[in-house]
Amino acid sequence: MSALFDLTGKTALVTGSARGLGFAYAEGLAAAGAQIILNDIRDTLLAESVEKLVAKGYKAHGVTFDVTDEQAIEAAFSHLDEQGIHVDILINNAGIQYRKPMVELELENWQKVIDTNLTSAFLVSRAAAKRMIARNNGGKIINIGSLTSQAARPTVAPYTAAKGGIKMLTCSMAAEWAQFNIQTNAIGPGYILTDMNTALIEDKQFDSWVKSSNPSQRWGHPEELIGTAVFLSSKASDYINGQIIYVDGGWLAVL
Ligand code: NDP
Repeated sequence: MSALFDLTGKTALVTGSARGLGFAYAEGLAAAGAQIILNDIRDTLLAESVEKLVAKGYKAHGVTFDVTDEQAIEAAFSHLDEQGIHVDILINNAGIQYRKPMVELELENWQKVIDTNLTSAFLVSRAAAKRMIARNNGGKIINIGSLTSQAARPTVAPYTAAKGGIKMLTCSMAAEWAQFNIQTNAIGPGYILTDMNTALIEDKQFDSWVKSSNPSQRWGHPEELIGTAVFLSSKASDYINGQIIYVDGGWLAVL
């Protein structure tokens, strides 16, 4: 049974994984047997996170690039090619949040949120899928959505547009790449305790709204996302394609 979830021999690239949910996915996939390539935009934090995995006996490397930079992505994948490292599993996790009422929102910040949360998934997946198809060995792509892939909230319009886009980008990837034995699915995390939410966690009104609007009456923890990431990376999900799995404690169920 456990062989279904065994990732031994697989290599996984997780974007934006120096901390937060990305690091949790990376550590979970490493524990399931995968070699890990951590990515982030900053060198220092990334190096520390690679060290943490290596110290636990896992095989891990770090590759610094900005997921919105097409040329940097191509250069990073070419560098991996040269080293004989092939990505079997990709988690498009890097993302940013920006809160402002839409009537005050600047185009520059709209664009940055769309680029980092949506266009990045297209760019990194394109680089990975091209190589997966050429190798003829299948693959797994996991895009990271959000509750806003399904339900809008005020002050996060570009984030909501991007995460809604992630849902249909996931379907598009499934539609084009299933024939190459590449399964593309998405995870939609609920409200999770990470640095991205520091200001919201400290806001007593928001914190009590999160707890009262969720049947689980609490925030989620990063490690509670790991099982779904391992499942969608493994043989166990080989006939699941184009889906988004919400890991939200039941928040959407009672909306
Ligand atoms: P964090 O802000 O804690 O971590 C995100 C990481 O991505 C940071 O290390 C950040 O680096 C990195 N990053 C940002 N921009 C880029 C870029 N252009 N290129 C490469 N790396 C980048 O976020 P979370 O862990 O909370 O969130 C991870 C994902 O999960 C995001 O896609 C988010 O939208 C999604 N999500 C999170 C939820 C939550 O409640 N936490 C809920 C729903 C979805 P740096 O710090 O240097 O900017």
